Amino acid sequence: MKITVVCPDCKSRLEFLARTGGDLIECGLCDRLIALAISEKIRSDSEVDCCPVCQGVELYSRKDFDPKVGLTVIIVGALISGVFYWFRLDLIAYSVLGIAALLDLVVYSRLRDLSVCYRCHAEFRGNYRRTAPLFDLHTADELELEWARRLGKQ
Ligand SMILES: [Zn+2]
Ligand SMILES: [Zn+2]
Repeated sequence: MKITVVCPDCKSRLEFLARTGGDLIECGLCDRLIALAISEKIRSDSEVDCCPVCQGVELYSRKDFDPKVGLTVIIVGALISGVFYWFRLDLIAYSVLGIAALLDLVVYSRLRDLSVCYRCHAEFRGNYRRTAPLFDLHTADELELEWARRLGKQ
């Protein structure tokens, strides 16, 4: 599985393979060293049982969706639609918009789930068994605060 760690200092996203990951990763931007403890289950891509960065067990599932891609589809659709609208081809204009929205929906539904760590926002992509529940705002608030305090004490 692939793990994306978020640097606590500069928020850079650092990606590496769990199978070959060591016990430290260095942020390429701010040189901060981040300690990793990769469990056997994560290495073998069977389950995300414990976050390698914060050792948290609370994770949530979300679609692996890049909002920028979705937005681009809508903007391109709107531009094309605008051209048709200009030439008073309203029906075609609306159809193009509709198709763009539909395309977004299709892309979205085909996306796979990924697990995200509530505390440190590490992301886990792979074929492992999905066990994490959906996002819960209350849990996120609590755990993010706890993690921020822990980082502050280091
Ligand atoms: Zn950094
Ligand atoms: Zn974590």
